[in-house]
Amino acid sequence: MALDIQQIRSQFPILQRQVNGQALVYLDNGATSQKPQMVLDVIDHYYKNYNANVHRGIHTLSQEATDKMEEARVKIQNFIHAKHVHEVIFTRGTTEGINLLATVLSSVIKANDEIVITEIEHHSNIVPWQMLCERTGATLKFIPLTADGILDLTQLDTIITKNTKLVCVNQVSNALGVVNPIEKIIEKAHQEGAWVLVDAAQSVPHTPVDVQALDCDFLVFSGHKMYGPTGIGIFYGKEAILNQLPPFHGGGEMIKEVTMEKSTYACLPFKFEAGTPDVAGIIGLGAAVDFINAIGIQAIHDHEDQLVKYCMEQLSQLDGIKIYAKDAPHAGAISFNLLFDGVHSSDVGMILDKKGIAVRTGHHCAQPIMHHFNIPGTVRASFAVYNTKEEIDVLINGLKTAIRMLG
Ligand SMILES: *Cc1c(COP(=O)(O)O)cnc(C)c1O
Repeated sequence: MALDIQQIRSQFPILQRQVNGQALVYLDNGATSQKPQMVLDVIDHYYKNYNANVHRGIHTLSQEATDKMEEARVKIQNFIHAKHVHEVIFTRGTTEGINLLATVLSSVIKANDEIVITEIEHHSNIVPWQMLCERTGATLKFIPLTADGILDLTQLDTIITKNTKLVCVNQVSNALGVVNPIEKIIEKAHQEGAWVLVDAAQSVPHTPVDVQALDCDFLVFSGHKMYGPTGIGIFYGKEAILNQLPPFHGGGEMIKEVTMEKSTYACLPFKFEAGTPDVAGIIGLGAAVDFINAIGIQAIHDHEDQLVKYCMEQLSQLDGIKIYAKDAPHAGAISFNLLFDGVHSSDVGMILDKKGIAVRTGHHCAQPIMHHFNIPGTVRASFAVYNTKEEIDVLINGLKTAIRMLG
C-alpha cells in the first residue's frame, strides 16, 4: 500500500518554507531529519504543563515527568526489540553512546587485547577507540574496503581472532549509504568470544532493527536522525554485560548510597545516567517513535528504497557522474561526484542550494573512506519518508545545471 506522502509532508512545518526563492528540497536527512508537529508539540506541552525534575520529587509534576520519561524508554525498548527496558540508556547521541562504552572499558581492555573497527566508520566510531587503545595499550585493527567501497570480509579470519575483545561496525554507512553485512561480522566476533557494538545511527531511521535478532551486545543511535530532537540518543547493551561494567559519569541519579569515603551504584539503567537527563528530549524522542510507528518502519523503508532506486537510475543517466559503491545495497543515501577536473563537491552543493536543494558535501565525518577513494569529499543525497520522486527530479535538474556550469 502506497503511503500518502502529501499527508505526511503536511506534518512537517519546515517543509513549507522556501530557500533562495524556491521550494525547499531537503535531501540532507543523513545529517539530521526534520521534525513533525507531534514531536514539537510534546516538547512544548512538557515545558508548559509538567516541567519538573525526574525520579526525585514526590510531587505531582515530578511524578508526571518521570512517568512520561519512563514511557518513552518503553517505546524505545519495543522499537528496537530489547529484552529488558533497563537495557535502554539515554545519552546525548551516537557519539556519546560510543564514548560511554569506550570510557567504561578503560579498566576492562588490557594491553594485549585487540579492538576491530572498519574502514567505513564515522569518526565517532574511530576516534574513541584510538583513544581507548592509547590509554590501555590495546591494538586497533580494521576490516578494509574493496576498491568499490564495500567491506572486504575475505581476511576476516586473520582480523578477528581470539585476541579480539570488541568489534565496532556501522549497520549503514553515513558516507556512502551502503548496508554493511554486520550479521556475518557479529557471528564471527561471537565465535571468537568478542563483543560487538553496532553503530545504528543510519539504520534505525530507515529499516527495522531488532537487537535480539541481530544478537549485538551494544547498539547506539541518535534521536535527531529519526525525526526526534537533537541532544538525545540511545545506548543499548545486554543486561548481563552492562551489569559487569563500571559506571560512566559519577554524580546524582546513578548512586545507591554515598558516604564521604565511598559510593555504591544504582542498578540499570540509572548506573549509566548520572545527572538530570534531557527530559524534553526523551519525551520528544518517544513521540518520534510514535510518528514512525504510525506509518510503520517497514513502509518507511519500502518508500525510501523506491526513492534510492529511482535516484540511482536517474543519476546513472547523467554524463560524468561517479556513484560510490553503486552495486552494493543502499539504505537512505547515495554518494556521488561530478568527475570534472578541479570540481569540488562543495561547488555542486552551492549550485544546488541556489535552487533550494539541501544536500551534504565534503567528507561526511568519514575521512578514511575519502582517503580510500583518494578524493576530498562527495555529494550525498539522503532521504526521509517525506521525500518524493518529484524532489529527485528537481535534484537531477539541478545537477544538469551544475554539469553545464562546471563541466
Ligand atoms: C551521525 C552519525 C554519527 C554521530 O552521531 P551524532 O548524532 O553526531 O552523535 C555516528 N555514526 C554514524 C554512522 C552517523 O551517521
